[in-house]
This record gives sequence, C-alpha cells and structure tokens, in this order.
Amino acid sequence: MPTPNSSPSDVRTHNNFINGQWTPSDSGRTYSVYNPAHKNTLLGHFQLSNPEDTLRAVAAAAEAAAGWADTPAPVRAQVLFRALEIMERRSDEIARTITEEEGKPLPDARGEVKRAMNIMEYAAGEGRRMFGYTTPSELPNTVAYTVRRPLGVVGIITPWNFPIAIPAWKMAPALICGNAMIFKPASSTPLCAVKLTEVFEEAGVPPGVLNLITGPGGSVGNALVESPDVTGISFTGSTEIGTELYTRGASLLKKVQAEMGGKNAVILLADADLDKALGGIVQGAFGSTGQRCTATSRVIVEDGVYDQFMEELIERTSKLTIGDGLDEGIDVSPLSSESQQRTVSDYITAGRDEGATLAFGGRTLHGGIYDEGWYVEPTIFTDVDPEMRIAREEIFGPVLTVFRARDLDHAVEISNSVKFGLSSSVYTRDIPRAFRYINTVDAGMVHVNAPTLGGEVHLPFGGLKASGVGQREQGVEAVDFFSEVITVYIDYADEARAQARFI
Ligand code: NDP
Repeated sequence: MPTPNSSPSDVRTHNNFINGQWTPSDSGRTYSVYNPAHKNTLLGHFQLSNPEDTLRAVAAAAEAAAGWADTPAPVRAQVLFRALEIMERRSDEIARTITEEEGKPLPDARGEVKRAMNIMEYAAGEGRRMFGYTTPSELPNTVAYTVRRPLGVVGIITPWNFPIAIPAWKMAPALICGNAMIFKPASSTPLCAVKLTEVFEEAGVPPGVLNLITGPGGSVGNALVESPDVTGISFTGSTEIGTELYTRGASLLKKVQAEMGGKNAVILLADADLDKALGGIVQGAFGSTGQRCTATSRVIVEDGVYDQFMEELIERTSKLTIGDGLDEGIDVSPLSSESQQRTVSDYITAGRDEGATLAFGGRTLHGGIYDEGWYVEPTIFTDVDPEMRIAREEIFGPVLTVFRARDLDHAVEISNSVKFGLSSSVYTRDIPRAFRYINTVDAGMVHVNAPTLGGEVHLPFGGLKASGVGQREQGVEAVDFFSEVITVYIDYADEARAQARFI
C-alpha cells in the first residue's frame, strides 16, 4: 500500500449512488485509489460495497423500472441530450480524471470523452426510432406488428481501460430503451464512474433508474448476476470473467452480452503503403500503452517487405516519448497499475524464455519519474512461434510480436490461430487480396489500410470466438440487446371466425 502524499483535505470519500441518493456502503469500509503515474498520489476513497448494497440497488432499480419504461422514448432522449451538454461542459475535467486514474495520455482521454458524447447523441436519436415493423397477416382483418419493450433491470459491469466510454456505450442505449440499471465499474477506476453517474444525475435520470455500486467484482458483481430481478447483464472485461458470467447468467435465463479480450493482428502485405502501415502499427501497438481491447498485439509481415519493415519499426518505436500522460507530447504513459506492470513484465520474461528474439525494449523502467509510476518500455519480439504464450495470450500492454508469412493465406492462417477474434487489419493496395482477407479473417471488426483500433458509435462493436458472445454493442444492435421484441396480433373482424391455428 503506497504512503499517500496528497494532503487528506484534497481527497474525498465517495459514496455509492442508490435510489437517487449518494450513500455509504453497509460494510462501513472504503478502499483507496492512486494515480498510476504518481503512485503515492491518492485520488479518493470509495465504498467497498458488499452484496447487501447490491441488493438494495437492485430493489431501487426494480421499483423505478416501470415508471421509466412508461416514459415515452423521445422524452427519455431529452435526458440523454442534457447528459451530452453536461459532458461537454465537464469534458476537460473528466478527461483529466481519466488520465489521473487510468493513466492514458490526455489526448487519448479527450478522445474517450468525445466517444462517450457521441454515443449519448446517437442513443438519444434512437429515442425517435426504436423501430418495430408491421407486416401483412395471413388472416383477413388482422394487423400484425412488433414493438420493443425494455428488459427491466440490467447490470452494467465494466473494465478499467475505458472507464468513461465503455460505461457510456452501455448506459446510454440501456437508458433510451427504458431500462433501470446497476452500474458496477472496475475497482481501479471508480472516480470516473462517480463523475459519469453525476452527469446522468444532473441530466435528470429519475431516482432508482441509475444506481452505482463500487467495490470488488467477486461479491458485488456476483450478487448482481445472481439476483432474480436482474434480467440482463452487459459485461466488458477479460475472457475468463466474461465466460463465467455468461455461463452463470445463461443458466439463470438472463440475457447476457460479454465483450472480452483480444489478440489483434495486422497483416502487412508486400504491396502496401509502408509509411501508412507503420503509422497504424505503432499507434495500434503502443498507443494507450497497449491497454486497448483493440490494440495491435501481432504483426504478420509478408516476406518481401519484412527486413525494411523491421528496420523502420524499430526506428519509429525508439522515438516514442514515455512519461506521465498529463504532460505534453507523451506517446506512451504508465501501465494502469502495479499488477498490470507485473503481468506485462512476466510476459516479456516468458517471451525470452520461450526463445523469441527481443528486438527492442523489454525493460521495466526505473529512475526519475519512472520510479513514480508503473512504466514498461515499448517492446518488440521477433522470431515468434505461433505456439508461444506471447503469440497466443492477451498481454494488454506495450508488447508487439512480429511474425513472417509466405503470402496472404499463410498470414491469415497465423492470424486465425488464436482463440480470440476481436479486431484485425490488413495493409495492401491489392483489392482482390483485401477482399479475400475480409472474407476469411476471424474478427468481429475488420480494417483495411487502417489500424486495428477504433470504431464508430453507430456501427456494431464486438468480437468473435473468445472475444465476444451475445449481441454486439453500439449501433442498432445495442437497441436489440437492451430491448425485447414483442409480436402483436390484432383481430379487428366484427364476427367470430373458425380458422385453424397450428401453433
Ligand atoms: P476483468 O474481467 O478483470 O474485470 C471486468 C469487470 O468485471 C470489473 O468491473 C470487475 O470488477 C468485474 N468482475 C470481476 N469478477 C467478477 C465476478 N465474479 N462477477 C462479476 N463481475 C466481476 O477485466 P479488466 O477490468 O482487467 O479489463 C481488461 C479486459 O477487458 C481485457 O481483457 C480487455 O481485452 C477487455 N476489454 C474488452 C473490450 C471489448 O469490447 N471486447 C473493450 C475493453 C476491454 P473488479 O474490477 O472489482 O475486479
């Protein structure tokens, strides 16, 4: 436990938000969160909640759900439009909080806030769509159509790496569809969660519709999944926890979506624009310190361009600036926690032990500002065998593994050899090869001549295989997840009829 160097008066104790009130946990206990770039700087104390808190929040949500469901969707949209205005007003402050709490460079944090605003805007627009459809009935004098109904009470469980955008891209669609919710953020980024909740509170989300519970996933999250009043769970996080939650939720007949890990690969073909590819690969591998689910973890390079690529990759990587994400011009900031630093450096050791060649970096950084945070150098491994752990497992840090491929088919075979299938990218000018790639690569999001990163809020986001299960997030798919479709038949014939019905 670090010794705090913030003065106690700077630091607040933050409560849970249940039924429209900021209230302490039943446990009477709190925990502390520190800045990963200044590990002795205390950011706040947060409720170490227990299952009883979760159940109180679920009860509040269950009580509020009917009123929110009855509020017309275009009226619910007004709340989201107000949330968007408030986010805009607080955007600098919230971006700074992301950097202080999660560690990513401030420009990335600003981008994350913008992403959250985009989803609020998009979801608010859905308030005037939320389409069902009408279709001719096989019976005369009968109208057949579908309508959408909210799930009721949903659990929102989120990771630390996008502590504002990921909660927002779940909460905004959940709200517009008329659900009440319990938001369980990652334990290491509760301050961002408090601020996002404040935004929705000020925007006028009614009491009980949005409840925030901070504390450990094991007890708080479990209670959420087990509660019979919770009918849907939207989870983003590791494949290990997501698989457990999905299995348990399904056995209780809940609707569950789980967005999970990645091991995203770029395929670089010999005909590509190398300069463009290098820009995308360096940004994808080392931007946000490799702690994006869509980060580039592997590059698979066609033989003909391999040597030139490696030379220029190392040259560009050596120019990256490492430091506190709040400082100007920082490319790579610290990892988000001591345990992340340990995990990443353990993978670097495993890569060496398994016989990969350390082509660049590899050190845990010490001395000066580096002693204040959890830094690891951008790292590149070559001579990587697809069977090695660094080739197959999600590292979630600034570590890039490089493979050689004979041709496109060989490259796709390497790309598809892992259990994950989140995001992918090819760099080529050859249109037939680009389409062959699109049609054969195992990934939920496929980019051509662009990094593995990113996505737009009005398009579905998510992965295949061990990267995602359940409905996609964002886009109209988010409305599909957060609503049930009800089929309605209205017989307006003015006399009884005797048609047989078969089902
Ligand atoms: P974790 O799976 O460790 O945690 C995710 C959330 O689940 C946290 O809020 C955590 O709480 C909670 N949790 C933990 N145990 C349980 C449980 N038994 N029941 C219910 N909830 C639980 O992931 P990380 O936070 O470490 O996030 C990093 C991971 O997220 C990476 O694998 C990354 O790839 C993935 N990710 C995927 C994305 C995608 O869209 N596919 C996007 C972004 C990240 P607590 O913090 O208290 O442990």
